[in-house]
Formats: sequence, C-alpha cells, structure tokens
Amino acid sequence: MADKSKIEWTDSTWNVITGCSVVSPGCKHCYAMKLAGTRMKHHWSRKGLTTDTKAGPVWNGQLSFNVPWLAQPLEWTRKRLIFVNAHGDTFHENVPVDWLDKIFAVMGLAFVTMDDPHIFQVLTKRSKNLRAYLGDPETVYRVTAMMKQLSRELLGDGLPGENAAPDWPLPNVWLGVSCEDQPRFDERVADLYNTPAAIRFFSFEPLLGPIDAKGPLSTGAFHWAIVGGESGANARPMNPQWARDLRDQCQAAGVAFHFKQNGEWVSVSEVEGEGPWHTFDDGRSVRRVGKKAAGRTLDGRTWDGMPA
Ligand code: SF4
Repeated sequence: MADKSKIEWTDSTWNVITGCSVVSPGCKHCYAMKLAGTRMKHHWSRKGLTTDTKAGPVWNGQLSFNVPWLAQPLEWTRKRLIFVNAHGDTFHENVPVDWLDKIFAVMGLAFVTMDDPHIFQVLTKRSKNLRAYLGDPETVYRVTAMMKQLSRELLGDGLPGENAAPDWPLPNVWLGVSCEDQPRFDERVADLYNTPAAIRFFSFEPLLGPIDAKGPLSTGAFHWAIVGGESGANARPMNPQWARDLRDQCQAAGVAFHFKQNGEWVSVSEVEGEGPWHTFDDGRSVRRVGKKAAGRTLDGRTWDGMPA
C-alpha cells in the first residue's frame, strides 16, 4: 500500500483488494498486473494472482483481501484523498459482498470519526456490479452493522463510530467508472447515472478513442472527469483532440476536468527532436517522446479540476 501516491489526482492509495482479470481494451497494458507478476510476485498481497504466459504475467481472477491493511485509512489522522484499490477492481465479480461491506464500513467510520474526513475515490470497470451493490436497499443496513463491528475490532469499544448511523450514500465517497472509448462509455454510463453517490466521476484513461459524452454530462449527475493517455513500454497514442473535445464537453456542462498526462506521445507541434510518429485519421500527428517529456499540459496549460 502506498502511503503517498504518485497519481496526480489523489494523495494515497489503499489497496485492501489486490487482483483482477482483464475485462476491456484499456486493461491491455495493466500496470498493476505487470507489477503483481514481476517485482511484487512473492509479496503476500500478490501471491498467486497472476499466471505466467508468453506475453507476460496475466491476472487469473484470484483476489486477495488484505486484512492487515484494512484499518490503514483510520490510522491516517489528517484528511487525504484516497484512491481505493488501485491494484485491482473493487467491483470484480469475485469480490464477496462481505469484503465490500467492510470497505464501505471503513469509509463510513472515517466519515463519522474524523472532523475533516478522508475522501475515498472508488473507480471500477464493472459498472453493473457497482450499481447492483449500491442500488441494493439492504446495503446501508449491512454497512451500518459492519461499522459497529469494525469500530470495536479496529478502534476499540465506546468510540463515536460504534453507534453512528452513516449518512447514505456516504458523503465522503466518490464513485467512478473507467471508460477508454465510446463503446465502453455507452456500456457503463447508465449504471453510474443510476448509482446513488455523493459524487460521480469518469476516468477516461487510457483514452483510446474519441468520446461523445455531451448528453450524459449535461444531466448534472456527473461531477468530475479525469483524462489521460497511456504510458509504459507499448503505450498506444492518444490524439490530443480527443482530450480537448472531452475538456470542452466538460466545460460546457460545468463538470470539473482533470488532465492527468499525455502519456508517451505528444502533439508534434509541442516538441522538437526525433522519435517515432503516429498520424491519426484526422491528420493530426503525435511523436513518441516518453512520459516525462510528453508532460501533462493540454493547449499549453495544466488542468487540475476537482469536484467542489
Ligand atoms: S480492471 Fe483495472 S486492474 Fe483490472 S485488469 Fe483492467 S486495468 Fe487492470
């Protein structure tokens, strides 16, 4: 678990679940999968989660519930933005309801016990499971009971969390879906729309194609969008115009916009020097310069929008 995260839109990651399986084109170069099958392979939180193949390690659908890390957010006394399960998918089909109840109970305990509570960012590609869990009218009762149990187990008897009923949906939990292209956006947007949440957001990363999100964004139900190009060894190029179009759609709808990174590739007009080129159907060209050189500006500036 990372006490401090390098991800631009969060402070810390809380990896209480690790493990996943590939579900979507955006998963192709999953960083967490590679890490779990190489450098972290023998760490107790990653053991047995991947299978070696000729193409490298691949998630095998085994998941780990990392109990020693469950209480970590409650030990961080100052408010943080916490990205939940950066090395897996919280709503993977193999996650039992009991794990979800424990995660939501810890987030609920942070809300009722901290003066200035942490904010938790939960992001999934399994939008149907997200909707089913939060849409179940029983969930709030199970989570409330779990808060009582965990308050005693993790914090000790008689503390404020023990008898507190949480506001629901939890005000300090942001729920998001990850959509890398138009088909994935069309598949997932209605589930997020229909999920009760204080804040709803999108991660358009790695952005692999143009996305028309105007209609849904204009409903006022969505609050934040993160956009970024892919990084890593075989990163697919992002057309800066796709990011620009999403920014403009967000601005028109009053949705906060965060531009995370260009990825490995950047518009040829923004860099000098050599490197492989890619030209998109619209005639725009990008050059591979590496993540650092590609940077995180769009039209000459950074975009660090966050929900109010
Ligand atoms: S859903 Fe996320 S963690 Fe799972 S394989 Fe895809 S990119 Fe990796």
